[in-house]
Amino acid sequence: MNIAIDGPAGAGKSSIAKLVAERLSFIYIDTGAMYRTMALYFMNRGINTKDQMLVESRCEEIDIRIHYENGEQQIFLNGDNVSVKIREEQVGNEASVVASYGKVREKLVALQRSMAASSDVIMDGRDIGTVVLPDADVKIYLTASSAVRAERRYKELTEKGAVCDLKKIEEDIKIRDYQDMNREISPLKQAEDAVLVDSSDMTIDQVIEEIISIVEKKRSNG
Ligand code: C5P
Repeated sequence: MNIAIDGPAGAGKSSIAKLVAERLSFIYIDTGAMYRTMALYFMNRGINTKDQMLVESRCEEIDIRIHYENGEQQIFLNGDNVSVKIREEQVGNEASVVASYGKVREKLVALQRSMAASSDVIMDGRDIGTVVLPDADVKIYLTASSAVRAERRYKELTEKGAVCDLKKIEEDIKIRDYQDMNREISPLKQAEDAVLVDSSDMTIDQVIEEIISIVEKKRSNG
């Protein structure tokens, strides 16, 4: 069984998908981490991610591998574990730039599909229900208002000791939403057969229960 969760930046997809995966004993695949890893490769080399030709011409140099340690996804860029480094805000912003390029998406979609073919997975991203796994058994479109998403992100970052500005976080979220929803290839949108879950006024537990009940309904209806 495959479950697809799509939605905008900061909607809580990864925390929720991880917990749902634990409950159902599925493998959780964070596809945003793959785009972040691609972006990090170019950032480390001082390559301007806006230079599409250059970025696309160097995609083949990149080897991305995923391993699981105690159920946690660890991502390796040409052999180096970059799971922590890719979480930086700037890497997310640059990921959204390289994610609009065909070559980048081709490479990552192939990796994502091969992972989903061999196990029960819950995969989160922007195009999982629409492009990567159009036949997923359950599709969720998880969203929340940009103000709520920015507040959650701010809280998460300040709890980690980072100094950040709520307004700037909300602005970045809006820019990323715009880029992700308006790009030519695989824009973020709700698949026709996806269930919309707006988590603005819901707790994590409520969202998890809602998703589990959608999965259980699907299982009992075959
Ligand atoms: O989900 P996360 O914030 O880690 O994703 C970083 C960026 O990667 C997104 O803003 C989006 O541009 C891109 N992405 C994508 N398709 C996916 C997952 C992420 O385009 N399936």
